Amino acid sequence: MSSMYIHIPFCLTRCRYCDFFSTTADATERDNYVALLVRHLELLKYNIATNTDLQTIYFGGGTPSLLTIDQLELLLRTCSKVFGIAANAEITIEVNPGTFERPYLHQLHTIGFNRLSIGIQSFDSGQLLRLGRCHTHEQSLESVKAARSAGFDNLSLDLMFALPGQDTDNLDREVDQLLQQTPEHISVYGLTVEEGTEFGRLQRQGKLTVADEEEYAQQYELLRERFCTAGYEHYELSNFAVPGRRCRHNLCYWQRRNCLAVGCGAHSFVENGYGERWHIPADLQRYRQRLEAGLDPAEKLEAFDRTGAMKETVYLALRTSDGIDPSAFERRFGESFHNAFPIATEALAKVLLQSPQRVALGSQHWLIYDHLISTFL
Ligand code: SF4
Repeated sequence: MSSMYIHIPFCLTRCRYCDFFSTTADATERDNYVALLVRHLELLKYNIATNTDLQTIYFGGGTPSLLTIDQLELLLRTCSKVFGIAANAEITIEVNPGTFERPYLHQLHTIGFNRLSIGIQSFDSGQLLRLGRCHTHEQSLESVKAARSAGFDNLSLDLMFALPGQDTDNLDREVDQLLQQTPEHISVYGLTVEEGTEFGRLQRQGKLTVADEEEYAQQYELLRERFCTAGYEHYELSNFAVPGRRCRHNLCYWQRRNCLAVGCGAHSFVENGYGERWHIPADLQRYRQRLEAGLDPAEKLEAFDRTGAMKETVYLALRTSDGIDPSAFERRFGESFHNAFPIATEALAKVLLQSPQRVALGSQHWLIYDHLISTFL
């Protein structure tokens, strides 16, 4: 099983809270970048042995919907030529309302995308403005409608919470609006203010107040309660899906399966030995120079030893409702899960759901996941 992540580090403007690597670029720069991605994909063919077609492809960013249909089609064709794409592959693209016209979504569907992740973030026009998003509430609603009429039956909507001035009442109204769109998948993100962003600067100057720990917890609980009541499975800390519509690409990441990546700033995971993590530095000039010289732009971040791989397996699996399969763990590491982590399993006996088939954290405890998981690390 292999997945491919393609990173598009371009945005129309910078959102005021964002600390991801992204930059603005004109049409020529975007075209040049796509040519580099094609080179990178072709180079991977020689460097990485995969014996199966791609099961998932994910275009993330940044704002991938700034690429033209021709550019996206070229990238999909290259994936197909270099690796092969499984007939039932999940092919996702992140799109931001306000960056495309209606026919664009029809064309995305026609060239093979079957899942859209729409960066709604909020249905409140005032919040969108405060966040520095480049779209309006109306454009968000219009993008969902347009996606449905284009034939997409697998939509993921992003919603932010713990926003400046937000309380549980207005979050509740946001949830109403989101549920009216009947998405198959929902990702939620609590705002964290990062140094180096405009929000960071405003906070330092005392001009921005965000949710405290208690408000954050109340809002997270509200989201859990509302989405689960509406029939969504809370299958990962920040993700909800109707049955059968979990994000296969992200599951691959949480299950530590091959996830290749191209693009400046992207990360990949390769199942060599106990696993390797690679990173492509967020430096467009270096990216270009390396590829033009025929060199792989990725740098190895970590080659896991057995202990590291066991810890990371637990760290990632306990984020999900599937948790750990004890038999698979023992087959992989030659030691039972309980033997490998006797102190942690005893300390967390009250919050771990344990059966011969599964060890998982009850999702009601995910709010303090960081605290709980530290017991294993
Ligand atoms: S669209 Fe996304 S990646 Fe781009 S600036 Fe906004 S939050 Fe950051």
